[in-house]
Amino acid sequence: MNNKLIPESEGIILAVSKGRILDQALPLLERAGICPKEDVNKSRKLVIETTRAGLHLVVIRPTDVPTFVEYGAADLGITGKDVLMEHDSSDYYEPLDLKIAKCRLMVAGLPGVEVSNNRIRVATKYAKIARDYYAKRGIQAEIIKLYGSMELAPLVGLSERIVDLVDTGNTLKANGLVPMEDICEISSRLIVNKAAMKTKHALIKQLIVTIEDSLR
Ligand code: AMP
Repeated sequence: MNNKLIPESEGIILAVSKGRILDQALPLLERAGICPKEDVNKSRKLVIETTRAGLHLVVIRPTDVPTFVEYGAADLGITGKDVLMEHDSSDYYEPLDLKIAKCRLMVAGLPGVEVSNNRIRVATKYAKIARDYYAKRGIQAEIIKLYGSMELAPLVGLSERIVDLVDTGNTLKANGLVPMEDICEISSRLIVNKAAMKTKHALIKQLIVTIEDSLR
């Protein structure tokens, strides 16, 4: 019995991260000939048809994209490398760097606030990445998990450092914070469910090639 709205034989589902990534993914998809048939920012529909026959979009939170793709609820997904690093799974393929929503993952803090190597509190949404980063450097860091407004933490004494995404640096600056250490570069990636890559190989391969061409 197939209890899915979209029968597996009839198409593929691409999960796209809401927000900044969606804004930059839409022009890229458009260049690849994939246009949503409704305004994704206004529509209340959760599954949106596109001009590419059989390809449906779902627009979801960036952190949910790897989960949908791993379970095969979406065949493909677009989300940030930061989300993938934090999710830390190899249950999907990552065939393309889409080179959109580029930024850097950085350590930041208030200027002049020194920390000792065995007592540092770090507030972040990226608990795993931060834990690994400090462990590699032999620094004992207490990682404080937050879900947003990381920049507030050093201002109110919750932590000495934050680990967050930095694009223009304006958010840090507006809060009197400075970038201190560069962890890595971030951009959005296309990920693919492993089983779907086999069972829907022709459709998915063709889509990857089309999107890759539109990057040039
Ligand atoms: P900015 O002020 O331009 O440095 O942007 C920093 C703020 O935007 C922080 O709150 C970041 O978490 C967020 N941000 C920056 N780049 C991205 C991105 N590529 N994806 C998601 N959030 C981002």
